Amino acid sequence: MSNRNKKSIREVVLTHYIGKGNEPTLDCFRVQDVREPFRELREGEIRLKTKYLSVDPYMRGRMNGEKSFSSFEEGRTICGAGCGKVIESRNKDYKKGDILTSHTDLCWPWREVVIFSAEQASNYFKINEIPEGYVSHTIGQLGMPGLTAYFGMLDRGAPKEGETLVVSGGAGACGSIAGQIGRLKGCKVIGISSSEKKLDHMVRCLGFDYAISYKDKTESQLYEELQSKAPNGVDIYFDNVGGFISNAVLRLMNKNGRVPICGQISQYHKEAVEPLPQDIEQHLKNNNVDRRWFMVYDYKDRFSEGYNQLYNWAKNGQMRVHQTEYEGIENLPKAFIDLFQCKNIGKAVVRIDE
Ligand code: NAP
Repeated sequence: MSNRNKKSIREVVLTHYIGKGNEPTLDCFRVQDVREPFRELREGEIRLKTKYLSVDPYMRGRMNGEKSFSSFEEGRTICGAGCGKVIESRNKDYKKGDILTSHTDLCWPWREVVIFSAEQASNYFKINEIPEGYVSHTIGQLGMPGLTAYFGMLDRGAPKEGETLVVSGGAGACGSIAGQIGRLKGCKVIGISSSEKKLDHMVRCLGFDYAISYKDKTESQLYEELQSKAPNGVDIYFDNVGGFISNAVLRLMNKNGRVPICGQISQYHKEAVEPLPQDIEQHLKNNNVDRRWFMVYDYKDRFSEGYNQLYNWAKNGQMRVHQTEYEGIENLPKAFIDLFQCKNIGKAVVRIDE
């Protein structure tokens, strides 16, 4: 923003719905100047300069064009998780310089400068105490995706020492935290991902025991490779992706295994989700495998426990938080599209302003 006229503020709008069965493209988004950027604040309002914005896979579902309360609107500003600094306040609870973050509220407009009413502001957390280096992680692995991994693993995965855990999307925002929690709980951890760089990251940086690529493999090739790394079967499968990758893992599930379904990103551009093959269904039933979807918001009452634990693990060096950072509001559409092209390692965030 430094080289631009300070009165000119940009935002990103959705130009048209993507629809089911299609991949997002750059022309689905438009970066434009905001009209009337600096109106006077009303009593109770605050003005913030956005520091970081998050791009997340769930946003794809809001761009389908289906009528639902969470759908984005064509021609309107996109919103998601974000954090920023108060630059002007007419609210006694906030002063200039305060830093606010979404954690789990997903209504921060994709805009360089935003105005929040008193009620909107109360949905955000003041994080003045957090070290500067962690601010962007509060919308990532120390925010919603981190909490997703925390509750999905601990509550649904229920890891025990000596068990074997497989994590698909293992180098991503949720997956890399899920795998590290498994490691902290004494599991053997196998991460699945798409590129050599990500495999290396999972083993060297995150401390996973093994990393396997699914790229250019058939389901049976992936199954064989998994079997060689998990000769005693799989106890927990943290599923981020669905499709043939998950089918290969599910065939290896042990008796009383647990499969927290976090997401199925491989299915997000399909007209309809591929059904689970009958023989896998039967295998899971025969072995009493608990395979269920969960939502991070199921654990709303325990969010502060999750934040504190994740932050402490990160601060104490027991857990690595990592992000792929893009620069400037004009790169939000690319950062979002890149999620589906497997470009990010850790959490994808966009830096809007220092
Ligand atoms: P992420 O893993 O950081 O980023 C997306 C990654 O997905 C890509 O880098 C890529 O990693 C993988 N991917 C993309 N297209 C794929 C495909 N066709 N097949 C296989 N893998 C593909 O994203 P995240 O935010 O952590 O989200 C991970 C999953 O959790 C998503 O399914 C998301 O919807 C879900 N989620 C659920 C909740 C909940 O409350 N249940 C909350 C947050 C997120 P690779 O290179 O490893 O393939």
